[in-house]
Amino acid sequence: MAINNDQNKEEVPDPSSQIQELIDGGFEHLEKEIRKCANCSLHEGATNPVIMKGSRDPNILFIGEAPGKTEDMTGIPFSGRAGKKLDEMIGYMGLSPDDYAVINVLKCRPPNNRKPRKSEIEQCKPFLMAQIRFLDPRVIILLGNTAEEAFFSRKEMQWGVPLVTDEGISVLKIFHPAAMIYQRSRIDEQKELLDKNRHLWE
Ligand code: URA
Repeated sequence: MAINNDQNKEEVPDPSSQIQELIDGGFEHLEKEIRKCANCSLHEGATNPVIMKGSRDPNILFIGEAPGKTEDMTGIPFSGRAGKKLDEMIGYMGLSPDDYAVINVLKCRPPNNRKPRKSEIEQCKPFLMAQIRFLDPRVIILLGNTAEEAFFSRKEMQWGVPLVTDEGISVLKIFHPAAMIYQRSRIDEQKELLDKNRHLWE
């Protein structure tokens, strides 16, 4: 059955002018805008907005979902339990600290770590897209479905099957590191996805 998306389209503003304004302002301006953002209600419950960690000139950019409790306290993405799993994965990939950066779709923690709402993803998306433009990676690794839906505005990818964007960036979707905590069988599956795609970063 055909789905009429006209109503959804009206609700989602075109973020391209906001992205351009953020880019024109420079990296520090972008970080300042994220820190003072009140575009959705998530900032009300957030202790710290969580911006990025890692290299400012990365080959590889990991995109997660949203800060959890530890990240909200530290202001650093993937600094809690899921972060340990991400670090193990990065070790398995053989990356050094200069090779990569880590950001999230949302910069503020959703209450009780609930899934981000579509409206929150759209409100935060200019920040995400401006970060991608500044960091200018060769490879983007989407950590799970939320990162995919934010990056493409729809479901686009198979797990572990890369594609190349019009800008020449290789994009790969793998399991979110938190899945390694809750489903131990995912650890071996994730290693398989990474082994199949080593040519992207080696
Ligand atoms: N999960 C995420 O997606 N991001 C974090 O920073 C922490 C947990």
